[in-house]
Amino acid sequence: MSAGAIDLHTHTTYSDGSASPEQLFEWARAKGARAVAITDHDTVAAFPEARAAADRFGVEFVCGIEISAEYSPGTMHILGYCVEDASAAFAEKLDELKRAREERNPQIAGRLQTLGVDVSYDEVVRVADNEVVGRPHFARVLVEKGYAASVSDAFDKYLKKGAAAYVEKARLSPVDSIALIHKAGGVAVLAHPYQLNLSSVEEIDGLIAELVEFGLDGIEALYSRHSPSQRASYVEIAERHGLLVTGGSDYHGSYKPDISIVDGLGDLEVPYELLEAVKARASRRRLAEA
Ligand code: AMP
Ligand code: ZN
Ligand code: FE
Ligand code: FE
Repeated sequence: MSAGAIDLHTHTTYSDGSASPEQLFEWARAKGARAVAITDHDTVAAFPEARAAADRFGVEFVCGIEISAEYSPGTMHILGYCVEDASAAFAEKLDELKRAREERNPQIAGRLQTLGVDVSYDEVVRVADNEVVGRPHFARVLVEKGYAASVSDAFDKYLKKGAAAYVEKARLSPVDSIALIHKAGGVAVLAHPYQLNLSSVEEIDGLIAELVEFGLDGIEALYSRHSPSQRASYVEIAERHGLLVTGGSDYHGSYKPDISIVDGLGDLEVPYELLEAVKARASRRRLAEA
C-alpha cells in the first residue's frame, strides 16, 4: 500500500455502515490514506462529524452520497462527489427518499413475519440506531436471531431482489439522480458497474452512452469486487467516453466483513490524482452553472 492512497466509497453509521465517522477516519489514517469520501445512502448527515474527524486525523474529507436509481435487471447506484451545497431543494429530495424507505421497511418486516420469521421492524430500528435504515440492518437481526448464517446468507435467503421478503422501493430515475447531484454542485459517478448485471461490453457501452447524455461524469472502475480485468475494461470505457475514473472500497464495516477500508479485498489502490480530476470537474461544472 503506497502512502497517499484514497477511498472514495465508504458508509458510516449514518446509513448502513458499522463505523462512526470518527472510527472510519481513524482506521483510514492507520492505513495511510490521504483522502476519504463518505458516501452514505441518501443522506449527508455524517458530514459535520466527518469534517471534525478528518481534521483530527489529518485525512482529507470528500463530501459524497450514494443514490439508488430505478433500473433493472440489476442494481444502479450513482455516487455524488463534492455535494457541498446544502440547499433546501437537495434536503427536501433526500427527505423524500427517506420517506420511501420508511414505507418500504415495515413491508419487509411484514413479509418476514408472513414467512414465519420472528423479526419486527422495531427490533431492526433499534439495531440500526440511525438515520437511514436499510436491508443490511434487517440482515444483522436475521443473523443475530439465527435465521441466517451471515449478512450475505440473509440477503440470499430473504432480502435480495427476487427473494421472499424483498420489497421494491420508490427510486429516482437515473436522469433525476444525476440532476440532483449536479444541482447540489457535485459530479455524478456510476458506482460498481458490475452490479448492473450486463454481460457484454456492448450493452454496458450503450448504457454508459445514455447516461453520458444525462450528464454522467465518471465511472467507479476501481472497486473492491471488480476483478483486475473488469477494472481495466471499465477504465477503458470511461476513457472512451471522456469520463472520470474513480475508485473505492464500499466499506460497510461488519456489514461487509471481507472489505477493508482503503484496500478493499487487499488489492485495491486508488491514486490521489483521480480525486484531483473529480475536484477539477466539480469546479468546472459550478462555473458553468453559475
Ligand atoms: P437498501 O438501501 O436498503 O436497498 O440496501 C442496500 C444495501 O444492501 C447496500 O449497502 C448493499 O451493498 C447491500 N446489499 C445489497 N445486496 C446485497 C447482497 N446480496 N449481499 C449483501 N449485501 C447486499
Ligand atoms: Zn450500503
Ligand atoms: Fe452501492
Ligand atoms: Fe455503497
